[in-house]
Amino acid sequence: MCYRCFWPKAHCWCASIEPMHTNTRFVLLMHPKEWKQEKAATGRLTHLCLAESEVHMALECDTHPAVQAIMRDPESFPVLLYPGEGAHNLSRGALTAADLGGRRLVVFVLDSTWGGARKMLKLSPNLQRLPRVVFTASAPSRYVIKRQPQEGCLSTLEAVHETLLALERHGLDRYERPDQLLAVFDRMQQFHIEFARDPARVDGRHHRATPLPPDADVARRFSDQAPAAPSRRRRYIRGVG
Ligand SMILES: [Zn+2]
Repeated sequence: MCYRCFWPKAHCWCASIEPMHTNTRFVLLMHPKEWKQEKAATGRLTHLCLAESEVHMALECDTHPAVQAIMRDPESFPVLLYPGEGAHNLSRGALTAADLGGRRLVVFVLDSTWGGARKMLKLSPNLQRLPRVVFTASAPSRYVIKRQPQEGCLSTLEAVHETLLALERHGLDRYERPDQLLAVFDRMQQFHIEFARDPARVDGRHHRATPLPPDADVARRFSDQAPAAPSRRRRYIRGVG
């Protein structure tokens, strides 16, 4: 196991990814359950691609010292990527350089299922108080390993990609390597497809072969639709502003 990307050493991502610099700082708040999903989660891969990002495991973010320090930093303009009344739609330019007032944009991302994200939010009044941002997705999800992708379902990696596209479009960031995030995403999916087909070959003989259930961790993702299946969907996209 590589303890940076949390993949088996034979499939370690670290050497093949060149972290990209951004003006925006991304803070991925990972639900403890997500933390255990080494291979299925895209949060860690997102982190590897972005030099100005960090991952914190936190259920109650208000008691997490590092997370609180970031929120309180006077040089930062912290926002939460989460829908809600008054959310600023980044795709429509609802957040401007004047709003930031010279501070650095810090985007908090809840890396969890819809139900998990809601719980994290409920347990953290400080997170609730952050201004919210959303985006209008430029493309449907690229998830192919999901059996029946729903419109608006995005992985953490895709959500960050869309956020950067919107920020660049409105002059708040420079998104130099969109290809890398998406290529990493494709490669991860390819791995899962091959793993499901032949676990022993892909994962090596020393690992116990446990293919991912088709509709479980890999499949559950984000949606801009009302959470019809509340524990499995998360919304990022639709918003006003
Ligand atoms: Zn690694």
